[in-house]
Amino acid sequence: MAYLEIRQASVHYPVRSTWGTTGEVVRAVDNVSLTVEKGRILGLVGESGCGKSTLSRAIMQLQPLTSGSIILNGTNLSELSTAEVRRRRLDFQMIFQDPYASLNPRFSIFSTLVEALSRRTPLPRKEREQAVAELMNRVGLSPEHMYKYPHEFSGGQRQRIAIARAIAPGPALLLADEPVSALDVSIQSQILNLLTDLTRELKLTMIFISHDLSVVHYIADDIAVMRRGQIVEYGPAEDVFTTPQHEYTRTLLSAAPRLTD
Ligand code: ADP
Repeated sequence: MAYLEIRQASVHYPVRSTWGTTGEVVRAVDNVSLTVEKGRILGLVGESGCGKSTLSRAIMQLQPLTSGSIILNGTNLSELSTAEVRRRRLDFQMIFQDPYASLNPRFSIFSTLVEALSRRTPLPRKEREQAVAELMNRVGLSPEHMYKYPHEFSGGQRQRIAIARAIAPGPALLLADEPVSALDVSIQSQILNLLTDLTRELKLTMIFISHDLSVVHYIADDIAVMRRGQIVEYGPAEDVFTTPQHEYTRTLLSAAPRLTD
């Protein structure tokens, strides 16, 4: 069943000059249609500026569509009230490129994760340590470090903390925007493996955004290639990788080094 359906979605930004808008638009997302099946990982790949972030912000309801619709689990999100969108936002969580920027440096990991675990229902005080320990174990962190602060962890560990925070409210959809681009290559496959394992164990659906086709190939079940606001190629990851139909995908492939496990 399609968990997420994007129907003819467009986001146009007005072009501004010194004297105001020019009447022209940037077609950041241009008539995109995509479906993501429940439990699968969709890799969205394309060069910087092709519209990936705009599309992901639109899916997260952080950016209104100029036209088209986004259907999540059978519900058209544009028809929901603001209060309903806020409630449903817990169902989709994001992981960003730079966990250091997205983690509050003044909060210990314990505080950050208690807050994330309490978003649907407050976690009773006496259950907090146990719940945080379980969550840390789940993402491969040792619970003995729960009272430490973000700067005391390595880049890879910080991304594990950000992943723990994202899965804490029990989301259905994870949107990972370049989650390994800032990490050492030696750490990248560990984080990719963690994301794959969690998607399977927790029966999540994931959209994985990257400019790097080799990273996307490593993790995705399906791949959509985006160029200048449009999806130019879409299919099972193996097919896109081994027999790309579009010239642009071939160009991306020839530029991509292979990630090995
Ligand atoms: P990507 O994530 O693939 O790098 P973006 O979605 O950030 O691409 O950008 C797509 C296009 O839209 C680019 O041409 C960018 O300059 C433009 N753009 C992005 N955000 C805005 C904005 N808030 N206002 C105007 N133009 C924007």
